[in-house]
Amino acid sequence: MENTQLNDIRQSSHLTASSEAALSHSNELDGLRLSPHFKLSEFLNLEKHPDNLPTPQVLFNLKYGCQYLLEPARREVGAIIVNSGYRNEAYNRQVGGVRNSQHLLGQAADIRPKDPQQFQRLVDFLRTCDYTDQLLTGPGWLHISWTPFSSPRHYIRIGYYK
Ligand SMILES: [Zn+2]
Repeated sequence: MENTQLNDIRQSSHLTASSEAALSHSNELDGLRLSPHFKLSEFLNLEKHPDNLPTPQVLFNLKYGCQYLLEPARREVGAIIVNSGYRNEAYNRQVGGVRNSQHLLGQAADIRPKDPQQFQRLVDFLRTCDYTDQLLTGPGWLHISWTPFSSPRHYIRIGYYK
């Protein structure tokens, strides 16, 4: 009985310590910006996925997407909400992402305009943008990807996600 209690305490203090560490890490990351209007923390979902930390290569890729797609799109439609950006393997598996998802590289984001009325304008802007690799739209949100190291494919599928 005592042993069990001790184990419980050990486990709960371990959990507290590790979640505190993740929290402070997430606070440190909170100030980092990828571009003038996009914070790194918006692309990581660390509250739900504390281990989802970017490599330098992922950071580079995310910055590229912000600079060439998301900031220009924001100028068209106002504030943009990032539902999902970078995903490590575990996170990607958890949300049922495809195995070769560009989210794994920091080369994609699922986004929506803060003002839902701007959705069509956002789609219209991204479908004609030179840097668009894949654009797959769903109801009120879309998946946009970019390819910093090769030519974008301009693969557009409207209504891809039901
Ligand atoms: Zn996506």
